[in-house]
Amino acid sequence: AEKKGGNCYHIYQPSLNKCHSDYTITLETDLRYALEKQELVLYYQPRVSLVSGEIVGMEALLRWFHPQLGTISPKQFIPIAEETGLIIPISDWVSEMACQQGKTWQNWLKRPLKMAINFSAQGFQLSDFCERIEAICQRTQFPFSCLELELTESTLVKDFLQAREKLQQLQTLGIDVAIDDFGTGYSSLNYLQQFSFQILKLDRTFVRNSGRDTTNRAIVSSLIQLAHNLQLSVVAEGVERQCELNFLREQNCEEIQGYLFSPPLSAREMEDLLREKRRLPS
Ligand code: C2E
Ligand code: MG
Ligand code: MG
Ligand code: MG
Repeated sequence: AEKKGGNCYHIYQPSLNKCHSDYTITLETDLRYALEKQELVLYYQPRVSLVSGEIVGMEALLRWFHPQLGTISPKQFIPIAEETGLIIPISDWVSEMACQQGKTWQNWLKRPLKMAINFSAQGFQLSDFCERIEAICQRTQFPFSCLELELTESTLVKDFLQAREKLQQLQTLGIDVAIDDFGTGYSSLNYLQQFSFQILKLDRTFVRNSGRDTTNRAIVSSLIQLAHNLQLSVVAEGVERQCELNFLREQNCEEIQGYLFSPPLSAREMEDLLREKRRLPS
Protein backbone atom coordinates (compact mmCIF):
# COMPACT_ATOMS: atom_id res chain seq x y z
CA ALA A 1 0.00 0.00 0.00
CA GLU A 2 2.85 2.30 0.87
CA LYS A 3 4.41 1.67 -2.48
CA LYS A 4 1.23 2.33 -4.33
CA GLY A 5 0.51 5.55 -2.53
CA GLY A 6 4.02 6.80 -1.94
CA ASN A 7 5.42 6.24 -5.36
CA CYS A 8 2.55 7.77 -7.24
CA TYR A 9 2.97 11.29 -8.36
CA HIS A 10 1.80 13.40 -11.17
CA ILE A 11 3.86 15.01 -13.82
CA TYR A 12 3.06 18.52 -14.94
CA GLN A 13 2.32 17.59 -18.53
CA PRO A 14 -1.33 16.55 -18.66
CA SER A 15 -0.70 14.00 -21.40
CA LEU A 16 1.75 12.17 -19.16
CA ASN A 17 -0.57 12.30 -16.22
CA LYS A 18 -0.07 8.78 -14.89
CA CYS A 19 1.33 7.03 -11.89
CA HIS A 20 4.92 5.92 -12.00
CA SER A 21 5.64 2.26 -11.52
CA ASP A 22 8.65 0.95 -9.63
CA TYR A 23 10.12 0.03 -12.98
CA THR A 24 9.91 3.60 -14.22
CA ILE A 25 11.50 4.86 -11.04
CA THR A 26 14.36 2.40 -11.45
CA LEU A 27 14.86 3.59 -15.01
CA GLU A 28 14.74 7.20 -13.89
CA THR A 29 17.43 6.65 -11.28
CA ASP A 30 19.66 4.54 -13.50
CA LEU A 31 19.37 6.81 -16.52
CA ARG A 32 21.22 9.48 -14.56
CA TYR A 33 24.34 7.35 -14.69
CA ALA A 34 23.80 5.63 -18.01
CA LEU A 35 25.83 8.14 -20.01
CA GLU A 36 28.92 8.12 -17.82
CA LYS A 37 28.71 4.34 -17.43
CA GLN A 38 28.68 4.13 -21.22
CA GLU A 39 25.46 2.16 -21.30
CA LEU A 40 24.03 4.38 -24.02
CA VAL A 41 25.07 3.36 -27.50
CA LEU A 42 24.22 4.70 -30.92
CA TYR A 43 22.91 2.36 -33.58
CA TYR A 44 22.59 3.32 -37.21
CA GLN A 45 19.94 2.34 -39.69
CA PRO A 46 20.91 2.69 -43.35
CA ARG A 47 18.80 4.75 -45.70
CA VAL A 48 18.74 3.62 -49.27
CA SER A 49 18.05 5.58 -52.43
CA LEU A 50 15.35 4.10 -54.64
CA VAL A 51 17.08 5.66 -57.61
CA SER A 52 20.61 4.30 -57.19
CA GLY A 53 19.94 1.49 -54.73
CA GLU A 54 22.90 2.76 -52.70
CA ILE A 55 23.17 3.62 -49.03
CA VAL A 56 22.95 7.41 -49.03
CA GLY A 57 22.79 7.96 -45.33
CA MET A 58 21.55 6.68 -42.02
CA GLU A 59 19.51 7.49 -38.97
CA ALA A 60 21.16 7.46 -35.57
CA LEU A 61 19.01 5.53 -33.09
CA LEU A 62 19.78 5.41 -29.42
CA ARG A 63 20.00 2.16 -27.42
CA TRP A 64 20.32 1.65 -23.70
CA PHE A 65 22.04 -1.53 -22.62
CA HIS A 66 21.05 -1.78 -18.98
CA PRO A 67 23.30 -4.14 -16.98
CA GLN A 68 20.35 -5.81 -15.20
CA LEU A 69 17.34 -5.10 -17.37
CA GLY A 70 18.87 -5.73 -20.78
CA THR A 71 18.22 -3.58 -23.82
CA ILE A 72 15.72 -0.80 -23.22
CA SER A 73 13.92 0.80 -26.15
CA PRO A 74 14.17 4.55 -26.70
CA LYS A 75 10.38 4.57 -26.72
CA GLN A 76 10.64 3.72 -23.02
CA PHE A 77 13.51 5.85 -21.86
CA ILE A 78 13.32 8.96 -24.06
CA PRO A 79 10.09 10.09 -22.32
CA ILE A 80 11.87 9.63 -18.98
CA ALA A 81 14.86 11.56 -20.24
CA GLU A 82 12.48 14.34 -21.23
CA GLU A 83 10.73 14.47 -17.86
CA THR A 84 13.98 14.55 -15.95
CA GLY A 85 15.80 16.99 -18.21
CA LEU A 86 18.44 14.35 -18.91
CA ILE A 87 17.47 14.64 -22.54
CA ILE A 88 19.72 17.69 -22.87
CA PRO A 89 23.06 16.04 -22.02
CA ILE A 90 21.93 12.87 -23.81
CA SER A 91 20.99 14.81 -26.92
CA ASP A 92 24.32 16.67 -26.91
CA TRP A 93 26.12 13.37 -26.66
CA VAL A 94 24.05 11.79 -29.46
CA SER A 95 24.67 14.71 -31.80
CA GLU A 96 28.39 14.85 -31.16
CA MET A 97 28.78 11.09 -31.45
CA ALA A 98 26.72 10.81 -34.64
CA CYS A 99 28.57 13.65 -36.35
CA GLN A 100 31.93 12.27 -35.32
CA GLN A 101 31.05 8.82 -36.60
CA GLY A 102 29.54 10.25 -39.77
CA LYS A 103 32.71 12.23 -40.43
CA THR A 104 34.90 9.16 -39.95
CA TRP A 105 32.82 7.17 -42.42
CA GLN A 106 32.78 9.98 -44.97
CA ASN A 107 36.55 10.25 -44.84
CA TRP A 108 36.90 6.54 -45.27
CA LEU A 109 34.40 6.22 -48.14
CA LYS A 110 35.38 9.54 -49.71
CA ARG A 111 31.79 10.39 -50.40
CA PRO A 112 29.04 12.27 -48.59
CA LEU A 113 26.77 10.30 -46.28
CA LYS A 114 23.77 11.86 -44.63
CA MET A 115 23.32 11.54 -40.89
CA ALA A 116 19.82 11.96 -39.48
CA ILE A 117 19.45 12.71 -35.78
CA ASN A 118 16.21 12.67 -33.78
CA PHE A 119 15.42 15.57 -31.48
CA SER A 120 12.71 15.83 -28.91
CA ALA A 121 10.88 18.98 -27.99
CA GLN A 122 13.03 19.88 -25.01
CA GLY A 123 16.25 19.86 -26.94
CA PHE A 124 14.82 21.75 -29.86
CA GLN A 125 13.26 24.34 -27.56
CA LEU A 126 16.58 25.47 -26.12
CA SER A 127 17.04 29.05 -27.18
CA ASP A 128 20.55 28.28 -28.44
CA PHE A 129 19.58 25.05 -30.20
CA CYS A 130 20.89 26.12 -33.61
CA GLU A 131 24.12 27.47 -32.16
CA ARG A 132 24.70 24.16 -30.38
CA ILE A 133 24.23 22.22 -33.58
CA GLU A 134 26.48 24.60 -35.44
CA ALA A 135 29.19 24.21 -32.80
CA ILE A 136 28.97 20.42 -32.97
CA CYS A 137 29.37 20.45 -36.75
CA GLN A 138 32.37 22.71 -36.40
CA ARG A 139 34.00 20.61 -33.68
CA THR A 140 33.52 17.38 -35.60
CA GLN A 141 33.98 18.95 -39.05
CA PHE A 142 30.77 17.34 -40.13
CA PRO A 143 29.34 19.22 -43.14
CA PHE A 144 26.05 21.03 -42.56
CA SER A 145 24.84 19.78 -45.91
CA CYS A 146 24.98 16.16 -44.70
CA LEU A 147 23.18 16.74 -41.44
CA GLU A 148 19.48 16.09 -41.11
CA LEU A 149 17.41 16.83 -38.05
CA GLU A 150 14.28 14.78 -37.44
CA LEU A 151 11.49 16.56 -35.62
CA THR A 152 7.91 15.53 -35.01
CA GLU A 153 4.78 17.60 -35.32
CA SER A 154 4.32 17.55 -31.56
CA THR A 155 7.76 19.09 -31.12
CA LEU A 156 6.86 22.00 -33.34
CA VAL A 157 3.49 22.61 -31.74
CA LYS A 158 5.18 23.54 -28.47
CA ASP A 159 6.44 26.92 -29.55
CA PHE A 160 5.21 27.83 -32.93
CA LEU A 161 6.96 31.14 -33.57
CA GLN A 162 10.33 30.16 -32.20
CA ALA A 163 10.16 26.85 -34.01
CA ARG A 164 9.58 28.66 -37.26
CA GLU A 165 12.53 30.92 -36.67
CA LYS A 166 14.82 28.01 -35.84
CA LEU A 167 13.83 26.12 -38.95
CA GLN A 168 14.67 29.20 -40.96
CA GLN A 169 18.04 29.50 -39.22
CA LEU A 170 18.83 25.85 -39.93
CA GLN A 171 17.87 26.26 -43.54
CA THR A 172 20.24 29.19 -43.84
CA LEU A 173 23.04 26.99 -42.53
CA GLY A 174 22.12 24.35 -45.10
CA ILE A 175 20.94 21.81 -42.55
CA ASP A 176 17.93 19.79 -43.67
CA VAL A 177 14.98 19.19 -41.43
CA ALA A 178 12.73 16.17 -41.72
CA ILE A 179 9.26 15.95 -40.29
CA ASP A 180 9.25 12.54 -38.63
CA ASP A 181 6.33 10.13 -38.27
CA PHE A 182 4.37 12.32 -40.60
CA GLY A 183 0.63 11.91 -40.41
CA THR A 184 0.53 10.37 -36.95
CA GLY A 185 0.26 13.69 -35.12
CA TYR A 186 -2.29 16.38 -35.72
CA SER A 187 -2.79 19.40 -37.97
CA SER A 188 -0.25 18.00 -40.38
CA LEU A 189 -1.32 20.04 -43.34
CA ASN A 190 -1.22 23.24 -41.37
CA TYR A 191 2.33 22.38 -40.40
CA LEU A 192 3.44 21.80 -43.92
CA GLN A 193 2.22 25.22 -44.79
CA GLN A 194 3.73 27.06 -41.84
CA PHE A 195 7.14 25.48 -41.48
CA SER A 196 9.96 25.00 -43.88
CA PHE A 197 11.09 21.38 -44.14
CA GLN A 198 13.03 19.59 -46.76
CA ILE A 199 12.08 16.01 -46.03
CA LEU A 200 8.93 14.17 -45.13
CA LYS A 201 9.30 10.87 -43.32
CA LEU A 202 6.35 8.62 -43.98
CA ASP A 203 5.45 6.71 -40.87
CA ARG A 204 5.41 2.95 -40.87
CA THR A 205 1.73 2.93 -39.94
CA PHE A 206 1.01 3.93 -43.54
CA VAL A 207 3.86 2.12 -45.20
CA ARG A 208 2.87 -1.18 -43.66
CA ASN A 209 0.99 -3.32 -46.17
CA SER A 210 0.97 -0.48 -48.69
CA GLY A 211 1.62 -3.22 -51.23
CA ARG A 212 -1.86 -4.62 -50.71
CA ASP A 213 -4.02 -2.63 -48.31
CA THR A 214 -6.05 -0.24 -50.44
CA THR A 215 -6.49 2.40 -47.74
CA ASN A 216 -2.78 2.58 -47.04
CA ARG A 217 -2.03 2.65 -50.75
CA ALA A 218 -4.29 5.64 -51.14
CA ILE A 219 -2.76 7.43 -48.15
CA VAL A 220 0.83 6.74 -49.16
CA SER A 221 0.34 7.74 -52.75
CA SER A 222 -1.47 10.96 -51.77
CA LEU A 223 1.13 11.89 -49.16
CA ILE A 224 4.00 11.34 -51.59
CA GLN A 225 2.26 13.45 -54.18
CA LEU A 226 1.54 16.17 -51.66
CA ALA A 227 5.17 16.17 -50.51
CA HIS A 228 6.45 16.36 -54.06
CA ASN A 229 4.12 19.21 -54.89
CA LEU A 230 5.62 21.05 -51.92
CA GLN A 231 9.18 20.25 -53.15
CA LEU A 232 9.84 17.88 -50.25
CA SER A 233 11.60 14.61 -50.68
CA VAL A 234 10.12 11.52 -49.10
CA VAL A 235 11.73 8.87 -46.93
CA ALA A 236 9.55 5.88 -46.14
CA GLU A 237 10.30 4.25 -42.81
CA GLY A 238 9.69 0.71 -41.65
CA VAL A 239 9.75 -0.93 -45.06
CA GLU A 240 9.64 -4.66 -44.37
CA ARG A 241 8.18 -6.24 -47.47
CA GLN A 242 9.07 -6.39 -51.11
CA CYS A 243 5.52 -5.44 -52.10
CA GLU A 244 5.79 -2.26 -50.01
CA LEU A 245 9.05 -1.43 -51.72
CA ASN A 246 7.59 -2.02 -55.17
CA PHE A 247 4.68 0.25 -54.42
CA LEU A 248 6.93 3.02 -53.02
CA ARG A 249 9.07 2.79 -56.15
CA GLU A 250 6.03 3.14 -58.37
CA GLN A 251 5.06 6.22 -56.40
CA ASN A 252 8.51 7.78 -56.87
CA CYS A 253 9.41 7.80 -53.20
CA GLU A 254 13.05 8.90 -52.96
CA GLU A 255 14.46 6.82 -50.12
CA ILE A 256 13.54 4.02 -47.78
CA GLN A 257 14.70 2.55 -44.54
CA GLY A 258 13.45 -0.62 -42.93
CA TYR A 259 14.13 -4.20 -42.01
CA LEU A 260 13.82 -5.26 -45.65
CA PHE A 261 17.21 -3.70 -46.30
CA SER A 262 18.64 -3.62 -42.80
CA PRO A 263 17.65 -3.14 -39.14
CA PRO A 264 19.53 -0.54 -37.08
CA LEU A 265 23.14 -1.70 -36.71
CA SER A 266 26.01 -1.18 -34.31
CA ALA A 267 28.86 0.95 -35.68
CA ARG A 268 30.89 -2.20 -36.33
CA GLU A 269 28.07 -3.85 -38.27
CA MET A 270 27.43 -0.66 -40.21
CA GLU A 271 31.07 -0.59 -41.23
CA ASP A 272 30.80 -4.12 -42.59
CA LEU A 273 27.70 -3.17 -44.52
CA LEU A 274 29.37 -0.10 -46.01
CA ARG A 275 32.41 -2.17 -46.96
CA GLU A 276 30.17 -4.74 -48.65
CA LYS A 277 28.65 -1.96 -50.78
CA ARG A 278 25.36 -3.80 -50.62
CA ARG A 279 22.65 -2.32 -52.77
CA LEU A 280 18.95 -2.59 -52.94
CA PRO A 281 18.14 -5.00 -55.79
CA SER A 282 16.14 -3.27 -58.49
P1 C2E B 1 11.70 6.99 -35.24
O1 C2E B 1 12.60 8.17 -35.31
O2 C2E B 1 10.44 7.05 -36.00
O3 C2E B 1 12.61 5.77 -35.68
C1 C2E B 1 12.16 4.69 -36.42
C2 C2E B 1 11.92 3.47 -35.55
O4 C2E B 1 11.45 2.42 -36.38
C3 C2E B 1 13.17 2.94 -34.86
O5 C2E B 1 12.76 2.42 -33.62
C4 C2E B 1 13.59 1.81 -35.79
O6 C2E B 1 14.37 0.82 -35.16
C5 C2E B 1 12.25 1.28 -36.18
N1 C2E B 1 12.28 0.55 -37.46
C6 C2E B 1 13.11 0.74 -38.50
N2 C2E B 1 12.82 -0.09 -39.52
C7 C2E B 1 11.75 -0.82 -39.12
C8 C2E B 1 10.98 -1.85 -39.75
O7 C2E B 1 11.20 -2.25 -40.89
N3 C2E B 1 9.95 -2.37 -39.02
C9 C2E B 1 9.66 -1.93 -37.75
N4 C2E B 1 8.64 -2.51 -37.12
N5 C2E B 1 10.37 -0.96 -37.15
C10 C2E B 1 11.40 -0.42 -37.82
P2 C2E B 1 13.63 2.64 -32.30
O8 C2E B 1 15.08 2.56 -32.65
O9 C2E B 1 13.10 1.74 -31.26
O10 C2E B 1 13.31 4.13 -31.93
C11 C2E B 1 12.02 4.51 -31.53
C12 C2E B 1 11.89 6.00 -31.45
O11 C2E B 1 12.69 6.54 -30.41
C13 C2E B 1 12.35 6.72 -32.71
O12 C2E B 1 11.33 6.69 -33.69
C14 C2E B 1 12.62 8.11 -32.18
O13 C2E B 1 11.43 8.86 -32.10
C15 C2E B 1 13.09 7.84 -30.76
N6 C2E B 1 14.56 7.95 -30.69
C16 C2E B 1 15.51 7.06 -31.02
N7 C2E B 1 16.76 7.57 -30.85
C17 C2E B 1 16.58 8.84 -30.40
C18 C2E B 1 17.47 9.92 -30.01
O14 C2E B 1 18.70 9.82 -30.11
N8 C2E B 1 16.90 11.07 -29.57
C19 C2E B 1 15.53 11.23 -29.50
N9 C2E B 1 15.06 12.40 -29.05
N10 C2E B 1 14.68 10.26 -29.85
C20 C2E B 1 15.18 9.08 -30.29
MG1 MG C 1 13.36 9.36 -36.65
MG1 MG D 1 10.21 8.08 -37.75
MG1 MG E 1 8.20 6.24 -36.48
